[in-house]
Amino acid sequence: MEFIKEELSNLKQKNLYRQLKTMNAAQSSRTMVNDKECILLSSNNYLGLTEHPELKAAAKEAVDLWGTGSGGSRLITGNMRLHEELEETIARFKGTEAAIVFNTGYMANMGAITALVGRGDIIFSDELNHASIIDGCRLSQAKTIIYPHKDTGVLEKLLQQNRSYRRIYIITDGVFSMDGDLAPLPRLVELAEKYNAWLMVDDAHATGVMGHRGSGTAEHFGLESRIPIQIGTLSKAIGSAGGFVAGSYDLIDYLRNKARSFIYSTALPPSEIAVALAAFRVLRTNPQIRESLHLNAHYLRSGLKKIGFTILTEESPVIPVLIGDASKAVQMAQQLLSLGVFAPGIRPPTVPPGMSRLRVAVMATHTRDDLDKALAAFSQAGKETGVM
Ligand code: PMP
Repeated sequence: MEFIKEELSNLKQKNLYRQLKTMNAAQSSRTMVNDKECILLSSNNYLGLTEHPELKAAAKEAVDLWGTGSGGSRLITGNMRLHEELEETIARFKGTEAAIVFNTGYMANMGAITALVGRGDIIFSDELNHASIIDGCRLSQAKTIIYPHKDTGVLEKLLQQNRSYRRIYIITDGVFSMDGDLAPLPRLVELAEKYNAWLMVDDAHATGVMGHRGSGTAEHFGLESRIPIQIGTLSKAIGSAGGFVAGSYDLIDYLRNKARSFIYSTALPPSEIAVALAAFRVLRTNPQIRESLHLNAHYLRSGLKKIGFTILTEESPVIPVLIGDASKAVQMAQQLLSLGVFAPGIRPPTVPPGMSRLRVAVMATHTRDDLDKALAAFSQAGKETGVM
């Protein structure tokens, strides 16, 4: 077991060793991190729904009515009426014929890719795609070509050079999780149609966030009917747990029969499903929650830029604050934490060397006072650590 110790000390030397932080309170705009009260500035709970009374009530009611666990996989005994209701709701929300729920977004990507893609196929995958897409591509055994981030010029050349494969797939995040920028979907759709490729978009960070109804990047760009495989998660803005694929009846029926991460895993517990259903109701009836999220993102971004920080992209509520050096990013995050702001440093291998950053994410429930305090802390920590 020597190699384990060696690898751990190697990580420590390179400043890449990771440690868990303990949250001692709910995932709210203000929370407790390692027993310190903090403004939470990095949660994917973008709409603050994990604390919404309707979602909490739905969880409690579901436990009373349906019990706790689901007791089996969907195809054996775990399929409750609630699961089907959620899938119908997601399909309506995404404007597709059908949807299928997986236990996590990770499993949705892995399950969909490995069911749809195999030997003899080719995948074109954006270099900043999420790990669950990368793992799905590896497991699929298809030839995978990584194209430079959002570079549709290079992608088109690659598509021209690789036309002899059985099936062609283009896979991209909708909102990139560490950079907060949007995939160039209008051009990707054109390329997919021109080169007869299947386009798959992972909207984990866009679900509930982007688009007029919060339905995601397809809605944001007005491309709802032109993206055949749409992935999402229920664990971020939706405030529950789980992932989904939305698309045609046949696609969903096929995944129900072929996606191993769907078939061989116990169905989500009824409380999580009921929470997701409540979240979609809240999204429909309270559009102002999403508006607050975008207003808060705009306010915080402007404030950070005024102080002198470099913001890598400005397209979503994910605000990547560039620090550069990995150890500086850690110092900055520690200093912020001591000042009562939780915005963790993101280092290689999650981001490229020299591109370490603080991944700041606002929530709809942050008050102006929260954001002003956070900005003051950024200014002080920036000076104290020599980042600015
Ligand atoms: N896709 C992307 C782009 C993500 O950021 C994440 C979560 N970090 C996932 C998929 C996985 O979703 P989940 O957390 O629901 O497994």
